[in-house]
Amino acid sequence: MDIRSQIAMVFHLDKCIGCHTCSIACKNIWTDRKGAEYMWWNNVETKPGTGYPSKWEDQDIYKGGWVKKGNSVLLKGAGKIKGIKGLFHNPNMPVLEDYYEPWTYEYENLFEAKEGDDQPIARPVSLITGETITPKSGPNWDDDLGGSEDYAKNDVNFKNISPAEKEAMFHLERMTMHYLPRMCNHCLNPACVASCPSGAIYKRGEDGVVLINQEKCRGWRMCVTACPYKKSYYNWNTGKSEKCVLCYPRLEAGEAPACHQSCVGRIRYIGVMLYDADKIEAAAASDEENLIANQMDIYLDPNDPEVIAEAIKNGIHESTIEAAQKSPVYKFVKEWGLALPLHPEFRTLPNLFYVPPLLPTMAFVNEEGVYETTTEHFWGAIEKSRLPMSYMASLFSAGNEEIIKIVLKKLMAVRLHRRSETVGDLPEKETKDAIRDAVLDKETADEIFRLTSLPLFDERFVIPAAHREEAIEMLESASDYKGSTGFGFKVPPKRGL
Ligand code: SF4
Ligand code: SF4
Repeated sequence: MDIRSQIAMVFHLDKCIGCHTCSIACKNIWTDRKGAEYMWWNNVETKPGTGYPSKWEDQDIYKGGWVKKGNSVLLKGAGKIKGIKGLFHNPNMPVLEDYYEPWTYEYENLFEAKEGDDQPIARPVSLITGETITPKSGPNWDDDLGGSEDYAKNDVNFKNISPAEKEAMFHLERMTMHYLPRMCNHCLNPACVASCPSGAIYKRGEDGVVLINQEKCRGWRMCVTACPYKKSYYNWNTGKSEKCVLCYPRLEAGEAPACHQSCVGRIRYIGVMLYDADKIEAAAASDEENLIANQMDIYLDPNDPEVIAEAIKNGIHESTIEAAQKSPVYKFVKEWGLALPLHPEFRTLPNLFYVPPLLPTMAFVNEEGVYETTTEHFWGAIEKSRLPMSYMASLFSAGNEEIIKIVLKKLMAVRLHRRSETVGDLPEKETKDAIRDAVLDKETADEIFRLTSLPLFDERFVIPAAHREEAIEMLESASDYKGSTGFGFKVPPKRGL
């Protein structure tokens, strides 16, 4: 057992209101600079939809992530040989059109235009060329249009659902959408780290944050191709790649990242997970049907005395272990089994987990074509969900619909239980059956309700402040670390290397 600690996150999708406050908080702090205008380290997509950059989930186009090879994994598009061959011509790299040409408006024209017959206007101007442009795409171009045919039909996840199901989804009465906030997953098996020919990307030993050393980066952009989530970006002004730093200066002071702190819907949770680094390679190379179970198996019970003893032996500080014991992420992911990784089939073992949206199952179109919302006959409604299970399974469970149904059953059981407690209009048997079917009990259902609906700030964000001596070690390791020269499978370095 080789125990390490990782800062991990949960996003509760039923709570996201698509306000983009998270993206703006991040933009104002980190990417409001020349060359970084088009970067959205945090972005919020509408699903179904094509996302940002366009069709980022399609690895036939971008060749990101890993592929299974025997008992190990290989980078799909940026391995040793492929990487060198592609240094000067890489057709799998997203180009500006896949993102968008960033623009501002000629605001000064509103004040300074010469007197004339027409109202002065503020025309859009490219932030790259300074020329007037007509914007044709943007980071949230299809915002709120998830149900519309123009954008939603091009969603890559429809590859995995039948044409009949796809067609049915676009009946006006059935259309539905949800938001999908995204950021770097600070993966346990980060393809960006392994792909970097310069060894500039590293995973911090203390908390698993993945960073790019700007001094070492040579702008080869292998990480841009390798990251299947397209969360590493190239700064055209500095000639270096950049990515989310999980607001590490805030983390070190025990504060939540800005996107978390500012989240209006309070959908975000952050906490420590203890994990066994010895299991990473085998989990990443799992058969598709076991990917999630084996990733879950990597995360360890922070209350287990054996785990605690090993963690201390491995140099993990007591305050980090205590934080892991109070981690809301551990509860959602391991204890309750409610949160799932996005596209586990990319095999990077992401540390951002999503509670899938229950909303599309709460109303359905009946045989007469009438739109119904009912708490009766709920279990049938999961089958009739306006968002097909196969679609959600394509997002969150490598195609395994059963995993999604189990999560949705739990979420609904909590709702039925709370309704029966507070309104009291449901037959007792129905609530009891729902709780039993979801393998929950009333106490756990209440706990889930509390952490979902009424959590205090300190319950959502449980972050151990880094210790000064560890911060110094981290800085030294950032410049000395030789373990991420890429070209092959790598596990994160030990703490304090
Ligand atoms: S999501 Fe994973 S692979 Fe992509 S940049 Fe972040 S750590 Fe690297
Ligand atoms: S701030 Fe929170 S609620 Fe608003 S879009 Fe971002 S994740 Fe969703």
